[in-house]
Amino acid sequence: MKRIAVFPGSFDPITRGHESIVRRAVPLFEKIIVAIGVNAEKAGFFPVEKRREWLEKVFENESTVHVDIYSGLTVEYCRKNEINFILRGLRTSADFEFERSIGQINKKMFPPIETVFLLTIPEYTALNSSIVRDIIRYGGDPTPFVPEGVKF
Ligand code: ADP
Repeated sequence: MKRIAVFPGSFDPITRGHESIVRRAVPLFEKIIVAIGVNAEKAGFFPVEKRREWLEKVFENESTVHVDIYSGLTVEYCRKNEINFILRGLRTSADFEFERSIGQINKKMFPPIETVFLLTIPEYTALNSSIVRDIIRYGGDPTPFVPEGVKF
């Protein structure tokens, strides 16, 4: 069976932390789908099509990395698309506690799924999309925190 992973998230916007996790996971999986999860009740900061465009640009030279948009349960998306791994990044113990319950519940709902965690590299531990949004909102320069080629 092929090893196909989904990297689910909001990517609102993509940061160097996300980019690093995906690039490090490339040798582990035959295919990685970076999937933007959308929530009908919660509009994002950036339009979902813009987020998709940035992801496609960042990974344009990674032939095994694809970008998609989904709504609903991640495990349902996995079931429909024959995905057997969920990829997640771990920054802190708070991430771990949050991810542990989601991972365990996902496994209960869809037993074939395995969640694979990669530890963040230390310089990206403090980085998240909400900080990047704040920098942009208040006129700072987000360039050091977002992948090359992502322009606002
Ligand atoms: P969510 O809406 O699920 O929190 P995010 O877009 O914030 O989605 O994150 C998606 C994934 O990327 C999560 O697994 C998260 O832990 C990981 N991630 C986010 N920022 C970083 C970072 N700086 N280093 C490593 N992983 C990260």
